[in-house]
Amino acid sequence: MERWNAQCAAGTDDNFGRELFLVPLDTPPYYAVGPMLPTFVNTHGGPKHDAAQRLLDADDRPIPSLYAIGECGSLWGPYDNSMGDITEFIVSGTNAARHALKETPWDAT
Ligand SMILES: Cc1cc2nc3c(=O)[nH]c(=O)nc-3n(C[C@H](O)[C@H](O)[C@H](O)COP(=O)(O)OP(=O)(O)OC[C@H]3O[C@@H](n4cnc5c(N)ncnc54)[C@H](O)[C@@H]3O)c2cc1C
Repeated sequence: MERWNAQCAAGTDDNFGRELFLVPLDTPPYYAVGPMLPTFVNTHGGPKHDAAQRLLDADDRPIPSLYAIGECGSLWGPYDNSMGDITEFIVSGTNAARHALKETPWDAT
């Protein structure tokens, strides 16, 4: 704490080069965080799809007019990618919509 407070007073963080939040710890009480473990805020599972986001059947053939985007069949699988999910749902949703718009409408009734 003495080192940190001295760095704050000098306006330089020699440990990590931080330029913001150089706030001294000089007013008790102080609190500390205990051990932290990595965990998930995602599901990332789901069905397989191709590059056009079309869902694939058990033989890896596209199922007509059925798309999966975002976390549904996510490319990240079991990995915590940190920040890639929002990019994925934008890119995969746009990609699926582009392909869906090229399809011939069909009457399901
Ligand atoms: C706390 C938290 C923090 C996160 N932080 C980040 C971050 O910093 N960066 C990042 O990249 N990702 C982050 N994520 C992950 C990211 O938000 C998700 O991966 C992303 O929103 C998934 O998008 P999605 O379109 O697959 O699903 P969703 O965003 O869950 O969209 C699914 C939609 O379908 C709707 N829906 C469900 N059932 C039905 C139904 N039967 N009929 C009609 N609609 C239905 C739901 O209401 C929802 O709007 C975070 C997630 C959490 C929980």
